[in-house]
Amino acid sequence: MMTSRLLRLTSPSRRALLAAALTLPGLAVAAPAAPTPVRAVASFSILADWVRVVGGERVAVDVLVPPGADAHVFQPTPAHARQIAQAQAVFAIGLGFEGWLGRLLQSAAYRGLKIEVSQGIEPVRQAAHGHSHGHGHAHGDVDPHAWQSVKQAMVMVGRVAEGLCQADAAGCETYRANAAAYAGELRTLDTEIRAAWAAVPAEQRRVITTHDAFGYYARDYGVRFLAARGVSTEAEPSAQGIARLIRQVRQEKVRALFVENISDPRLIEQIARDTGTRPAPEALFSDALSPAGGPAPTYTALMRHNTRALVRAVRGD
Ligand code: ZN
Repeated sequence: MMTSRLLRLTSPSRRALLAAALTLPGLAVAAPAAPTPVRAVASFSILADWVRVVGGERVAVDVLVPPGADAHVFQPTPAHARQIAQAQAVFAIGLGFEGWLGRLLQSAAYRGLKIEVSQGIEPVRQAAHGHSHGHGHAHGDVDPHAWQSVKQAMVMVGRVAEGLCQADAAGCETYRANAAAYAGELRTLDTEIRAAWAAVPAEQRRVITTHDAFGYYARDYGVRFLAARGVSTEAEPSAQGIARLIRQVRQEKVRALFVENISDPRLIEQIARDTGTRPAPEALFSDALSPAGGPAPTYTALMRHNTRALVRAVRGD
C-alpha cells in the first residue's frame, strides 16, 4: 500500500544521503532527519486526497475504499483491519456515509484518533424522493455527499488539518499552512464552477443521475438533479420510481442523463432507451476519484471534470 511504498522510497534514499555524507570528505552537514511519517487512514479516495495534500511528506496515507469503488456497499477485509490497527489517525466523512467503519474500528481494536471531517459543515437534508419505497435510510435524513460542495470541502479540509495537528503536534504549522494554500485553490475552483454555470439558463439546469449524490452541488450551483436511487446505492430503485423518472425526462425534456463512475450504468441506459435520449458520453464522478491517469485523480480534477461534463450535457453540446 501507500505506506510501504513510501517507506521503500524514503529509507534507501536516506541511506544513500547518509552514505554520501560519510564518504565525501569535508561534507560535514548530515541530511536533516526526516521524521517517521504519521500513519493515517482515510475512509475513501476523495478524503485520502485531502489528507495527502494537507499532510504532505509528514503523513503516509492508506485508503480503505479505493478510486472507482463504491463506499456505500464496501466490505472491509482483515487486511483493512490491519491497516487501521497501525494507524495514528483515521479520517471519515461521517453523516452515516461509512456505515461499516464502526465495526471495522472495533475489530481492529483501534484506540487512536477518529476524525469525522463533516463536523461543522452546513448539511443538506435529504430530499423527500418520489421513488421512496418505504425503507428507512441508514443515513437518517442528512445527505452525506458533502464533498460535492467546494465550500463545504473547505470546512472539511480545515478539519483534516486540525486532526493531523492532534496526531502530530510538531507538524501542526505545516498542516495549517498546507490547508491554507489548498483553501486558496478551492476558492479559485468554486469561482470557476460558478462562472461555468452563469452562462446556463436556470430552466436548462436539469440532470438525471443514478443515485442522489449531488444534493450539495445542487444547492451551491443551482442545478436540479433527479436520481433513480436515494443517497445510498444500497437499495434497489423501485419500478414505480423508474417510471416516474421516465415521465419527468419526457415532460421536462431533460437532456442530461449521466452514469456514475461507481454505479452500474444499466439503469441510466434503460431510462435513456425508454425516453429516446442518450447518456452523456462521460461519467460523473460521484463518490470516488478515478485511478491516476484517469480524468479525476484528485478532488479538484473531479470537480472540474464533473462541471465540464454537466454544462456540456445540459447545453446539448
Ligand atoms: Zn453516494
